[in-house]
Amino acid sequence: MAKKVLIVYAHQSSSSFNAAAKNIAVEVLTAQGCTVEVSDLYAMGFKATATAEDIKGDLKDAENFSYLEESKLAWEQGRLSDDITKEQSKLTEADLVIFQFPMYWFSVPGILKGWFDRVLTNGFAFSQKKPYGLETFKDKKVMLSVTTGSPESMFCTIGINGDINVTLWPLQNGILHYCGFQLLSPEVFWAPALAAAEDRKKMLESWRTRLQGLLEEEPLSFTPLYCFDKKTFQLKYVGEEFGLSVSIHRSNPRSSRSQMKD
Ligand SMILES: Cc1cc2nc3c(=O)[nH]c(=O)nc-3n(C[C@H](O)[C@H](O)[C@H](O)COP(=O)(O)OP(=O)(O)OC[C@H]3O[C@@H](n4cnc5c(N)ncnc54)[C@H](O)[C@@H]3O)c2cc1C
Repeated sequence: MAKKVLIVYAHQSSSSFNAAAKNIAVEVLTAQGCTVEVSDLYAMGFKATATAEDIKGDLKDAENFSYLEESKLAWEQGRLSDDITKEQSKLTEADLVIFQFPMYWFSVPGILKGWFDRVLTNGFAFSQKKPYGLETFKDKKVMLSVTTGSPESMFCTIGINGDINVTLWPLQNGILHYCGFQLLSPEVFWAPALAAAEDRKKMLESWRTRLQGLLEEEPLSFTPLYCFDKKTFQLKYVGEEFGLSVSIHRSNPRSSRSQMKD
């Protein structure tokens, strides 16, 4: 069956390296028979801040405004703003979601963070009662496709930026795995602005090749929920070695497995 792909794209310029990576993804996946939709966040003027304006109608408690509570209620009652509802419909339809962006401050550009904050609504994308356990997105694959300003040597365990696995953990585990998506390894384009023209060409060719088999890739494996205590969510099976982790998690002295592709 034809797959539906959503590319959430966050770059201001159509002549950027990010635009080139996004265009190749559209081209290769479309040629495979996929229906590809692009949410071009800057072109859309996507609102990045999670505020009371995201909710139509009366608030439950305007004086003590809680975005977590009010947005959940609004989602349940179909009162979220149209731009959020539209992105949620695209997400619901998609079998694969690619986030294409330049790294900003070891994270995503604010406009994409705003997409996460607003579109991944409480109740729709996650449940506080079932952390990591909502099954709405269990059949959807997602991946980060990110360009950096720093070269790979700065993002290794002895590099000045620290381990890229630690940089990616809040996005990959804290957002995407928390919401129950299947994560494909990220595509990291190391410092395209510093690379020679020939090397930039190679990066994009390698992306093109990867895209051809992307839909068949096995997702990353995170430590399963049953390994954690149901109440405290602390690790129940001490010493268990499977699943991803980083040094700041589970007291591991260093990454037990890489979130990056081999
Ligand atoms: C606020 C902010 C915070 C940042 N924080 C970080 C950080 O924490 N860590 C970090 O590492 N970096 C950081 N950066 C740097 C940022 O990640 C890089 O500038 C960005 O990833 C480069 O991607 P780009 O698409 O903008 O590249 P561009 O500058 O658009 O492109 C790079 C090169 O590729 C060329 N190019 C474009 N299209 C093609 C094509 N089709 N084929 C071949 N070449 C092409 C361009 O002409 C250019 O020479 C930050 C930048 C900003 C603005």
